[in-house]
Amino acid sequence: MSQLTEHIDSFLNAEKVRQLFPVLGQKVNGKELIYFDNAATTQKPQNVIDAISDYYAQYNANIHRGLHSLAEKATAAYENTRKTIREFIQANEVEEVIFTSGTTESINLVASAFGRKFINPGDEVIISELEHHSNIVPWQMICEEKGADLKAIPVDEKGDLDIHAFRNLLSENTKIVAINHVSNSLGTINPVKNIIEIAHQAGAVVLLDGAQASAHIDIDVKDLNCDFYAFSAHKLFGPTGVGVLYGKRDLLESMSPYQGGGEMIKEVSLEKTTYADLPYKFEAGTPNIADVVAFDEAIRFVKSLGKKENILGYERSLLDFATELLKQIPGLKIIGEANEKIGVVSFIVEGLHHFDIGMMLDAKGIAVRTGHHCTQPLMQSFGIDGTVRASFSIYNTLDEVSIFVESLKEIVEKWR
Ligand code: PLP
Repeated sequence: MSQLTEHIDSFLNAEKVRQLFPVLGQKVNGKELIYFDNAATTQKPQNVIDAISDYYAQYNANIHRGLHSLAEKATAAYENTRKTIREFIQANEVEEVIFTSGTTESINLVASAFGRKFINPGDEVIISELEHHSNIVPWQMICEEKGADLKAIPVDEKGDLDIHAFRNLLSENTKIVAINHVSNSLGTINPVKNIIEIAHQAGAVVLLDGAQASAHIDIDVKDLNCDFYAFSAHKLFGPTGVGVLYGKRDLLESMSPYQGGGEMIKEVSLEKTTYADLPYKFEAGTPNIADVVAFDEAIRFVKSLGKKENILGYERSLLDFATELLKQIPGLKIIGEANEKIGVVSFIVEGLHHFDIGMMLDAKGIAVRTGHHCTQPLMQSFGIDGTVRASFSIYNTLDEVSIFVESLKEIVEKWR
Protein backbone atom coordinates (compact mmCIF):
# COMPACT_ATOMS: atom_id res chain seq x y z
CA MET A 1 0.00 0.00 0.00
CA SER A 2 2.73 2.50 0.91
CA GLN A 3 4.64 1.43 -2.20
CA LEU A 4 1.56 2.20 -4.23
CA THR A 5 1.24 5.64 -2.66
CA GLU A 6 4.86 6.41 -3.47
CA HIS A 7 4.32 5.20 -7.00
CA ILE A 8 1.39 7.55 -7.40
CA ASP A 9 3.07 10.52 -5.78
CA SER A 10 6.03 10.16 -8.06
CA PHE A 11 3.77 10.64 -11.06
CA LEU A 12 1.37 13.32 -10.06
CA ASN A 13 0.25 15.34 -7.17
CA ALA A 14 -3.47 14.73 -7.41
CA GLU A 15 -4.22 16.90 -4.37
CA LYS A 16 -2.59 19.84 -6.14
CA VAL A 17 -4.37 19.13 -9.42
CA ARG A 18 -7.71 19.00 -7.58
CA GLN A 19 -7.33 22.61 -6.49
CA LEU A 20 -7.72 23.66 -10.13
CA PHE A 21 -11.23 22.16 -10.31
CA PRO A 22 -13.76 24.26 -8.38
CA VAL A 23 -16.54 21.67 -8.60
CA LEU A 24 -14.50 19.12 -6.66
CA GLY A 25 -14.39 21.21 -3.51
CA GLN A 26 -18.06 20.74 -2.66
CA LYS A 27 -20.15 18.46 -0.49
CA VAL A 28 -22.91 16.34 -2.01
CA ASN A 29 -25.56 14.93 0.30
CA GLY A 30 -23.50 16.16 3.22
CA LYS A 31 -20.34 14.29 2.16
CA GLU A 32 -17.20 15.37 0.32
CA LEU A 33 -17.88 14.77 -3.36
CA ILE A 34 -16.09 11.77 -4.85
CA TYR A 35 -16.43 12.04 -8.60
CA PHE A 36 -15.89 8.70 -10.33
CA ASP A 37 -17.94 9.37 -13.47
CA ASN A 38 -15.11 10.68 -15.59
CA ALA A 39 -15.85 8.41 -18.55
CA ALA A 40 -19.21 10.18 -18.89
CA THR A 41 -17.62 13.62 -18.66
CA THR A 42 -14.59 15.04 -16.92
CA GLN A 43 -14.72 18.07 -14.66
CA LYS A 44 -13.39 21.41 -15.90
CA PRO A 45 -10.39 23.32 -14.56
CA GLN A 46 -10.77 27.02 -13.77
CA ASN A 47 -8.81 28.15 -16.87
CA VAL A 48 -11.38 26.45 -19.13
CA ILE A 49 -14.30 28.00 -17.24
CA ASP A 50 -12.63 31.43 -17.43
CA ALA A 51 -11.98 31.13 -21.18
CA ILE A 52 -15.71 30.73 -21.83
CA SER A 53 -16.71 33.78 -19.84
CA ASP A 54 -13.79 35.85 -21.22
CA TYR A 55 -14.98 35.19 -24.74
CA TYR A 56 -18.54 36.34 -23.99
CA ALA A 57 -17.43 39.26 -21.80
CA GLN A 58 -14.66 40.58 -24.05
CA TYR A 59 -14.79 39.55 -27.71
CA ASN A 60 -18.06 37.83 -28.55
CA ALA A 61 -18.46 38.07 -32.34
CA ASN A 62 -19.20 35.78 -35.22
CA ILE A 63 -16.13 34.36 -36.92
CA HIS A 64 -14.64 34.31 -40.43
CA ARG A 65 -17.02 36.81 -42.04
CA GLY A 66 -16.56 39.93 -39.97
CA LEU A 67 -13.90 42.55 -40.70
CA HIS A 68 -14.18 44.37 -37.39
CA SER A 69 -11.75 43.95 -34.52
CA LEU A 70 -13.90 41.72 -32.32
CA ALA A 71 -14.59 39.36 -35.23
CA GLU A 72 -10.89 39.19 -36.01
CA LYS A 73 -10.05 38.41 -32.41
CA ALA A 74 -12.73 35.72 -32.18
CA THR A 75 -11.62 34.19 -35.50
CA ALA A 76 -7.99 34.13 -34.41
CA ALA A 77 -8.88 32.41 -31.13
CA TYR A 78 -11.08 29.84 -32.87
CA GLU A 79 -8.44 29.04 -35.49
CA ASN A 80 -5.76 28.93 -32.82
CA THR A 81 -7.56 25.98 -31.24
CA ARG A 82 -7.48 24.21 -34.60
CA LYS A 83 -3.69 24.62 -34.65
CA THR A 84 -3.46 23.30 -31.09
CA ILE A 85 -5.54 20.25 -31.99
CA ARG A 86 -3.49 19.57 -35.11
CA GLU A 87 -0.41 19.38 -32.94
CA PHE A 88 -2.20 17.45 -30.16
CA ILE A 89 -3.11 14.61 -32.56
CA GLN A 90 -0.07 15.01 -34.85
CA ALA A 91 -2.15 15.62 -37.98
CA ASN A 92 -0.30 16.79 -41.07
CA GLU A 93 -2.39 19.90 -41.66
CA VAL A 94 -4.94 22.11 -39.93
CA GLU A 95 -7.29 21.46 -42.87
CA GLU A 96 -7.64 17.89 -41.61
CA VAL A 97 -9.11 19.08 -38.30
CA ILE A 98 -12.87 19.65 -38.40
CA PHE A 99 -14.81 20.98 -35.43
CA THR A 100 -18.08 19.23 -34.66
CA SER A 101 -20.42 19.14 -31.68
CA GLY A 102 -18.76 15.97 -30.36
CA THR A 103 -17.77 12.40 -31.12
CA THR A 104 -21.36 11.56 -32.01
CA GLU A 105 -21.54 14.21 -34.70
CA SER A 106 -18.06 13.33 -35.98
CA ILE A 107 -19.10 9.70 -36.51
CA ASN A 108 -22.42 10.70 -38.05
CA LEU A 109 -20.54 13.00 -40.41
CA VAL A 110 -18.36 10.14 -41.65
CA ALA A 111 -21.20 7.60 -41.78
CA SER A 112 -23.27 10.03 -43.80
CA ALA A 113 -20.70 11.74 -46.06
CA PHE A 114 -18.35 8.76 -46.58
CA GLY A 115 -21.27 6.33 -46.65
CA ARG A 116 -23.26 8.24 -49.25
CA LYS A 117 -20.24 8.38 -51.53
CA PHE A 118 -18.56 5.01 -51.05
CA ILE A 119 -20.98 2.47 -49.56
CA ASN A 120 -23.06 0.54 -52.10
CA PRO A 121 -25.54 -2.33 -51.95
CA GLY A 122 -23.78 -5.54 -50.90
CA ASP A 123 -20.89 -3.69 -49.22
CA GLU A 124 -19.96 -4.29 -45.60
CA VAL A 125 -19.23 -2.14 -42.57
CA ILE A 126 -17.45 -3.68 -39.59
CA ILE A 127 -17.86 -2.42 -36.04
CA SER A 128 -17.45 -4.38 -32.80
CA GLU A 129 -19.55 -5.58 -29.89
CA LEU A 130 -17.62 -3.14 -27.68
CA GLU A 131 -19.02 -0.03 -29.35
CA HIS A 132 -20.91 2.87 -27.84
CA HIS A 133 -24.31 3.41 -29.51
CA SER A 134 -22.75 6.45 -31.22
CA ASN A 135 -20.57 4.08 -33.21
CA ILE A 136 -23.37 1.62 -33.95
CA VAL A 137 -26.52 3.51 -34.85
CA PRO A 138 -25.08 5.84 -37.56
CA TRP A 139 -23.68 2.75 -39.31
CA GLN A 140 -26.97 0.89 -39.02
CA MET A 141 -28.71 3.89 -40.57
CA ILE A 142 -26.37 4.19 -43.57
CA CYS A 143 -26.27 0.40 -44.09
CA GLU A 144 -30.06 0.32 -44.15
CA GLU A 145 -30.18 3.23 -46.58
CA LYS A 146 -27.58 1.71 -48.90
CA GLY A 147 -28.48 -1.99 -48.61
CA ALA A 148 -25.12 -2.79 -47.01
CA ASP A 149 -24.35 -5.32 -44.24
CA LEU A 150 -23.21 -4.39 -40.75
CA LYS A 151 -20.97 -6.91 -39.01
CA ALA A 152 -19.53 -6.87 -35.50
CA ILE A 153 -16.25 -8.23 -34.14
CA PRO A 154 -17.07 -10.37 -31.08
CA VAL A 155 -15.63 -9.64 -27.67
CA ASP A 156 -14.28 -12.39 -25.36
CA GLU A 157 -15.08 -12.91 -21.67
CA LYS A 158 -12.17 -10.68 -20.59
CA GLY A 159 -13.38 -7.78 -22.71
CA ASP A 160 -10.86 -8.09 -25.55
CA LEU A 161 -11.77 -8.06 -29.22
CA ASP A 162 -11.35 -11.34 -31.08
CA ILE A 163 -8.80 -10.35 -33.72
CA HIS A 164 -8.93 -13.77 -35.37
CA ALA A 165 -12.68 -13.32 -35.89
CA PHE A 166 -12.00 -9.82 -37.24
CA ARG A 167 -9.73 -11.23 -39.94
CA ASN A 168 -12.47 -13.64 -40.93
CA LEU A 169 -15.12 -10.91 -41.10
CA LEU A 170 -13.10 -8.81 -43.54
CA SER A 171 -13.74 -9.22 -47.22
CA GLU A 172 -13.21 -7.32 -50.44
CA ASN A 173 -16.64 -5.78 -49.82
CA THR A 174 -15.61 -4.22 -46.50
CA LYS A 175 -15.61 -0.47 -47.00
CA ILE A 176 -15.00 0.81 -43.51
CA VAL A 177 -14.05 -0.51 -40.08
CA ALA A 178 -15.27 1.69 -37.21
CA ILE A 179 -13.84 0.76 -33.80
CA ASN A 180 -13.35 2.49 -30.50
CA HIS A 181 -9.80 3.16 -29.38
CA VAL A 182 -10.88 2.51 -25.79
CA SER A 183 -14.13 0.97 -24.52
CA ASN A 184 -16.23 3.26 -22.33
CA SER A 185 -17.94 0.39 -20.48
CA LEU A 186 -14.99 -1.88 -19.78
CA GLY A 187 -11.95 0.35 -20.24
CA THR A 188 -10.33 -2.05 -22.75
CA ILE A 189 -7.61 -0.40 -24.81
CA ASN A 190 -7.98 -1.96 -28.23
CA PRO A 191 -4.97 -2.96 -30.36
CA VAL A 192 -5.92 -0.31 -32.88
CA LYS A 193 -2.63 -0.16 -34.75
CA ASN A 194 -2.91 -3.83 -35.52
CA ILE A 195 -6.59 -3.48 -36.46
CA ILE A 196 -5.79 -0.60 -38.82
CA GLU A 197 -3.01 -2.55 -40.51
CA ILE A 198 -5.24 -5.60 -41.02
CA ALA A 199 -8.12 -3.46 -42.33
CA HIS A 200 -5.87 -1.57 -44.73
CA GLN A 201 -4.48 -4.83 -46.11
CA ALA A 202 -8.08 -5.74 -46.98
CA GLY A 203 -8.60 -2.34 -48.63
CA ALA A 204 -10.93 -0.89 -45.97
CA VAL A 205 -10.59 2.52 -44.35
CA VAL A 206 -10.68 2.86 -40.58
CA LEU A 207 -12.46 5.25 -38.26
CA LEU A 208 -11.37 5.31 -34.63
CA ASP A 209 -13.80 6.49 -31.98
CA GLY A 210 -11.35 8.13 -29.59
CA ALA A 211 -13.89 9.50 -27.11
CA GLN A 212 -12.40 7.52 -24.23
CA ALA A 213 -8.79 7.58 -25.37
CA SER A 214 -7.92 11.24 -25.81
CA ALA A 215 -7.56 12.05 -22.10
CA HIS A 216 -5.37 9.04 -21.33
CA ILE A 217 -3.36 8.03 -24.40
CA ASP A 218 -1.13 9.98 -26.77
CA ILE A 219 -2.95 10.36 -30.07
CA ASP A 220 -0.71 10.31 -33.11
CA VAL A 221 -2.93 9.92 -36.16
CA LYS A 222 0.07 9.65 -38.47
CA ASP A 223 1.66 6.86 -36.48
CA LEU A 224 -1.69 5.07 -36.11
CA ASN A 225 -2.33 5.62 -39.81
CA CYS A 226 -6.08 5.83 -39.12
CA ASP A 227 -8.24 7.43 -41.80
CA PHE A 228 -10.61 9.16 -39.39
CA TYR A 229 -10.36 9.90 -35.66
CA ALA A 230 -13.26 11.28 -33.58
CA PHE A 231 -13.25 12.69 -30.04
CA SER A 232 -15.08 15.10 -27.71
CA ALA A 233 -13.70 18.05 -25.74
CA HIS A 234 -15.83 17.33 -22.68
CA LYS A 235 -14.09 14.02 -21.95
CA LEU A 236 -10.78 15.88 -22.06
CA PHE A 237 -11.44 18.56 -19.40
CA GLY A 238 -13.00 20.84 -22.05
CA PRO A 239 -16.55 22.11 -22.58
CA THR A 240 -19.54 20.11 -23.79
CA GLY A 241 -20.82 20.63 -27.33
CA VAL A 242 -17.43 20.57 -29.06
CA GLY A 243 -15.68 17.72 -30.77
CA VAL A 244 -13.19 16.95 -33.47
CA LEU A 245 -13.17 14.90 -36.59
CA TYR A 246 -9.73 14.25 -38.00
CA GLY A 247 -9.70 12.89 -41.53
CA LYS A 248 -6.99 12.30 -44.10
CA ARG A 249 -7.11 15.14 -46.59
CA ASP A 250 -7.70 13.04 -49.72
CA LEU A 251 -10.63 11.24 -48.11
CA LEU A 252 -12.20 14.44 -46.80
CA GLU A 253 -11.80 16.05 -50.20
CA SER A 254 -13.46 13.14 -51.93
CA MET A 255 -16.53 13.34 -49.70
CA SER A 256 -19.49 15.67 -50.29
CA PRO A 257 -20.53 18.02 -47.47
CA TYR A 258 -22.46 16.61 -44.55
CA GLN A 259 -24.69 19.65 -44.03
CA GLY A 260 -25.46 22.68 -46.18
CA GLY A 261 -25.61 26.27 -44.99
CA GLY A 262 -23.52 29.34 -44.35
CA GLU A 263 -19.73 29.09 -43.95
CA MET A 264 -19.39 25.92 -46.04
CA ILE A 265 -19.76 27.56 -49.48
CA LYS A 266 -17.65 29.36 -52.06
CA GLU A 267 -20.49 30.61 -54.29
CA VAL A 268 -24.22 30.13 -54.16
CA SER A 269 -26.68 30.77 -56.94
CA LEU A 270 -30.20 29.47 -57.09
CA GLU A 271 -29.03 26.89 -59.60
CA LYS A 272 -25.79 25.67 -58.07
CA THR A 273 -23.46 25.91 -55.09
CA THR A 274 -19.72 25.43 -55.00
CA TYR A 275 -18.28 24.36 -51.69
CA ALA A 276 -15.63 25.89 -49.49
CA ASP A 277 -12.23 24.25 -49.12
CA LEU A 278 -11.34 22.10 -46.11
CA PRO A 279 -12.03 22.29 -43.26
CA TYR A 280 -14.92 24.73 -43.76
CA LYS A 281 -16.72 22.44 -46.21
CA PHE A 282 -17.74 20.40 -43.16
CA GLU A 283 -18.47 23.28 -40.77
CA ALA A 284 -21.85 24.65 -41.86
CA GLY A 285 -23.40 27.42 -39.78
CA THR A 286 -22.14 29.40 -36.81
CA PRO A 287 -20.06 27.01 -34.72
CA ASN A 288 -19.76 26.77 -30.97
CA ILE A 289 -17.14 29.53 -30.84
CA ALA A 290 -16.84 30.06 -27.09
CA ASP A 291 -16.37 26.40 -26.37
CA VAL A 292 -13.90 25.82 -29.20
CA VAL A 293 -11.87 28.71 -27.78
CA ALA A 294 -12.04 27.18 -24.30
CA PHE A 295 -11.03 23.78 -25.68
CA ASP A 296 -7.59 25.29 -26.28
CA GLU A 297 -7.30 25.89 -22.53
CA ALA A 298 -8.26 22.28 -21.85
CA ILE A 299 -5.40 21.08 -24.03
CA ARG A 300 -3.09 23.52 -22.28
CA PHE A 301 -4.15 21.98 -18.98
CA VAL A 302 -3.55 18.41 -20.23
CA LYS A 303 -0.12 19.35 -21.50
CA SER A 304 0.75 20.89 -18.14
CA LEU A 305 0.31 17.45 -16.55
CA GLY A 306 3.25 16.07 -18.49
CA LYS A 307 3.45 12.84 -20.38
CA LYS A 308 0.23 10.96 -21.09
CA GLU A 309 1.90 7.69 -20.10
CA ASN A 310 2.31 9.13 -16.61
CA ILE A 311 -1.35 10.16 -16.51
CA LEU A 312 -2.40 6.67 -17.57
CA GLY A 313 0.10 5.13 -15.15
CA TYR A 314 -1.42 7.11 -12.29
CA GLU A 315 -4.98 6.19 -13.24
CA ARG A 316 -3.94 2.55 -13.65
CA SER A 317 -2.56 2.61 -10.11
CA LEU A 318 -5.96 3.77 -8.86
CA LEU A 319 -7.59 1.05 -10.97
CA ASP A 320 -5.32 -1.72 -9.69
CA PHE A 321 -5.91 -0.65 -6.10
CA ALA A 322 -9.69 -0.49 -6.61
CA THR A 323 -9.79 -3.83 -8.46
CA GLU A 324 -7.87 -5.61 -5.72
CA LEU A 325 -10.20 -4.29 -3.00
CA LEU A 326 -13.42 -4.77 -4.97
CA LYS A 327 -12.59 -8.43 -5.57
CA GLN A 328 -12.74 -9.01 -1.81
CA ILE A 329 -16.42 -8.01 -1.65
CA PRO A 330 -18.65 -11.11 -1.57
CA GLY A 331 -20.90 -11.51 -4.62
CA LEU A 332 -19.10 -8.82 -6.63
CA LYS A 333 -18.03 -9.68 -10.17
CA ILE A 334 -15.87 -7.46 -12.31
CA ILE A 335 -16.96 -7.20 -15.93
CA GLY A 336 -14.03 -6.64 -18.26
CA GLU A 337 -10.52 -7.56 -17.21
CA ALA A 338 -8.54 -6.96 -20.36
CA ASN A 339 -4.77 -6.67 -19.88
CA GLU A 340 -4.67 -3.21 -21.42
CA LYS A 341 -7.15 -0.92 -19.68
CA ILE A 342 -7.63 2.71 -18.78
CA GLY A 343 -8.84 3.50 -15.25
CA VAL A 344 -12.35 2.13 -15.62
CA VAL A 345 -13.85 -0.65 -13.51
CA SER A 346 -17.28 -2.09 -14.24
CA PHE A 347 -18.93 -4.57 -11.90
CA ILE A 348 -22.15 -6.22 -10.80
CA VAL A 349 -23.13 -7.50 -7.36
CA GLU A 350 -25.21 -10.63 -7.06
CA GLY A 351 -28.60 -9.88 -5.50
CA LEU A 352 -28.33 -6.10 -5.84
CA HIS A 353 -29.48 -4.00 -8.78
CA HIS A 354 -26.87 -1.63 -10.24
CA PHE A 355 -29.31 1.30 -10.08
CA ASP A 356 -29.84 0.74 -6.34
CA ILE A 357 -26.10 0.61 -5.75
CA GLY A 358 -25.65 3.85 -7.69
CA MET A 359 -28.34 5.63 -5.68
CA MET A 360 -26.97 4.43 -2.35
CA LEU A 361 -23.46 5.53 -3.31
CA ASP A 362 -24.83 8.92 -4.35
CA ALA A 363 -26.36 9.28 -0.88
CA LYS A 364 -22.76 8.99 0.38
CA GLY A 365 -21.53 11.68 -2.02
CA ILE A 366 -20.02 9.21 -4.51
CA ALA A 367 -20.84 9.70 -8.19
CA VAL A 368 -20.59 6.53 -10.32
CA ARG A 369 -22.37 5.52 -13.50
CA THR A 370 -24.96 2.75 -13.60
CA GLY A 371 -26.84 1.13 -16.47
CA HIS A 372 -25.85 -0.02 -19.93
CA HIS A 373 -23.51 2.93 -20.60
CA CYS A 374 -24.91 3.25 -24.16
CA THR A 375 -23.48 -0.18 -24.98
CA GLN A 376 -26.53 -2.42 -24.95
CA PRO A 377 -25.12 -4.98 -27.44
CA LEU A 378 -22.05 -5.36 -25.20
CA MET A 379 -24.22 -5.87 -22.12
CA GLN A 380 -26.20 -8.49 -24.06
CA SER A 381 -23.00 -10.32 -24.95
CA PHE A 382 -22.22 -10.57 -21.22
CA GLY A 383 -25.83 -11.61 -20.48
CA ILE A 384 -26.48 -8.60 -18.21
CA ASP A 385 -28.49 -5.41 -18.51
CA GLY A 386 -26.01 -3.07 -16.89
CA THR A 387 -23.14 -2.54 -14.48
CA VAL A 388 -21.87 -0.08 -11.92
CA ARG A 389 -18.94 1.77 -13.47
CA ALA A 390 -16.30 3.77 -11.64
CA SER A 391 -13.99 5.73 -13.93
CA PHE A 392 -10.93 7.52 -12.61
CA SER A 393 -9.16 10.69 -13.60
CA ILE A 394 -5.99 12.50 -12.62
CA TYR A 395 -7.68 14.41 -9.78
CA ASN A 396 -8.90 11.25 -8.02
CA THR A 397 -6.97 9.86 -5.08
CA LEU A 398 -6.26 6.58 -3.30
CA ASP A 399 -8.19 7.87 -0.30
CA GLU A 400 -11.25 8.35 -2.48
CA VAL A 401 -10.90 4.79 -3.76
CA SER A 402 -10.73 3.50 -0.18
CA ILE A 403 -13.84 5.46 0.85
CA PHE A 404 -15.68 4.22 -2.25
CA VAL A 405 -14.87 0.57 -1.54
CA GLU A 406 -15.70 0.89 2.18
CA SER A 407 -19.04 2.54 1.32
CA LEU A 408 -19.81 -0.19 -1.18
CA LYS A 409 -18.96 -2.86 1.39
CA GLU A 410 -21.42 -1.29 3.85
CA ILE A 411 -24.14 -1.24 1.18
CA VAL A 412 -23.52 -4.86 0.19
CA GLU A 413 -23.43 -6.05 3.82
CA LYS A 414 -26.68 -4.24 4.63
CA TRP A 415 -28.76 -4.98 1.55
CA ARG A 416 -27.54 -8.12 -0.13
N1 PLP B 1 -17.95 6.88 -28.05
C1 PLP B 1 -17.59 6.51 -26.83
C2 PLP B 1 -16.65 5.35 -26.65
C3 PLP B 1 -18.08 7.20 -25.73
O1 PLP B 1 -17.72 6.84 -24.49
C4 PLP B 1 -18.98 8.28 -25.93
C5 PLP B 1 -19.57 8.98 -24.78
O2 PLP B 1 -19.67 8.46 -23.71
C6 PLP B 1 -19.30 8.64 -27.23
C7 PLP B 1 -18.78 7.90 -28.28
C8 PLP B 1 -20.21 9.79 -27.52
O3 PLP B 1 -19.59 10.98 -27.16
P1 PLP B 1 -20.40 12.36 -27.18
O4 PLP B 1 -21.66 12.11 -26.40
O5 PLP B 1 -19.46 13.32 -26.55
O6 PLP B 1 -20.69 12.67 -28.61
